[in-house]
Amino acid sequence: MSHLVMQQPAGVQPGYDEPMTDASLPLVARIVQDLIRFDTSNFGGGKARGEQPAADYIAEFLREQGLEPVVIGPPASVDGPARPSVIARWAGSDSSLPPLLLHGHTDVVPADPTHWSVDPFGGVIKDGYLWGRGSVDMKNMLGLILANLHDFTAHGIRPRRDVILAFFADEEAGGPQGAQWVVRHHPELLADAKVAISEVGGYSVQLPNGRRAYLVQTGEKGHTWIRLHASGTAGHASAWNRDNPVTKIARAVAAIGAYEWPIELTETTRTLLDRLRDLADLPESASPEEVLAQAGHATAFLSATIRNTSNPTVIDAGYAQNVIPASAEAKIDLRPLPGREDEVFAKLRELIGDEIDIEIIEQGIGYESPFAGEVIEAITKTLAEHDPEAAVLPYLLNAGTDNVSLSQLGITGYGWVPTKVDADFDFPGSYHAVDERIPLSALEFGQAALGDFLRRF
Ligand SMILES: [Zn+2]
Repeated sequence: MSHLVMQQPAGVQPGYDEPMTDASLPLVARIVQDLIRFDTSNFGGGKARGEQPAADYIAEFLREQGLEPVVIGPPASVDGPARPSVIARWAGSDSSLPPLLLHGHTDVVPADPTHWSVDPFGGVIKDGYLWGRGSVDMKNMLGLILANLHDFTAHGIRPRRDVILAFFADEEAGGPQGAQWVVRHHPELLADAKVAISEVGGYSVQLPNGRRAYLVQTGEKGHTWIRLHASGTAGHASAWNRDNPVTKIARAVAAIGAYEWPIELTETTRTLLDRLRDLADLPESASPEEVLAQAGHATAFLSATIRNTSNPTVIDAGYAQNVIPASAEAKIDLRPLPGREDEVFAKLRELIGDEIDIEIIEQGIGYESPFAGEVIEAITKTLAEHDPEAAVLPYLLNAGTDNVSLSQLGITGYGWVPTKVDADFDFPGSYHAVDERIPLSALEFGQAALGDFLRRF
């Protein structure tokens, strides 16, 4: 699997600032590197390079550790490659406890190599980082899981409870060929799990006063993707026409795009703001925006979680400059806070009036879980051991993950990929970004923290 060889001066111990050969890398980094080298690009709408080679690699790894993986998913067809997910059960020391679902996705968003400073699928090690598409989202987590399985097995250790390991295809397109497919066709593979751990969360941020905090994702906003449709009277563009659908759609799009949704706090964001305000030594009177400004690189991410958002993304109308068309369309990406779907819809109707039709193309409902209970306690205790000075904060993700599909089976999902990074490294900004990379030290921290969590929970 390893085709990258770097020269190492004789007698020099490999440190993270030195060039390292693949063989001198810790196991966790070698696994993530191997996985990055499978180009599992997902272009959306069913178009993908396919996850098969990555699934085969993972299944083989699991078999070597004595597990019996099931590789399952939509087969290859004229429309595209096979979309396998891999699922296996890892026996814990107390099988009477409900199992934990530990999951990640094997696909990645595409990468345009002309914009990157390294080959996005090369698994390059440079400057103490492992570079490549998926190093942050989320082949890193797959590596943390597999390296822990390997080391537990080698030392004859078991997780406290049974762990269902799931490596899903197609997450980046919402999971119709991955998690959603498994939930629909083979729920028995996941059914007795009550709690899941996966992306997006677990990374550290540093406040301006030097305090560090780990963000644990305890909820997700929903998404409602809608199409607006305006009808009108077609005709010559030189005519006096007051029933022009292009004008109508433009008016609706402008109203939606310009609307400033008010700040609305949910249970999660209220807890986040309270704790962050204390950590930052800000007065009670500080506004939500002032408090979130203390969250380092996560500020932009978090600012979308204190309000609904509505962004026009596509306008489609007309076919000739001198012809008024009979209809016009636009697409809007709505992200309602959990439980606010109806409210957002009513506001939208108010903004655009009755002359525009609204069609829902796709909808995922958001959720929130309490920042309390066994999982949160185990996460908090684990982080207290590995980074004693840091705080742990809940947050609401402004996007969606496979946890939304899994919630249909009554599984409560948390985002916790334990990742300790330096204050100047923009981890949240690395998702889907050019030159995506992860510090090697963060992979080792993550493996140790996840391993302790599995023994504890
Ligand atoms: Zn992801």
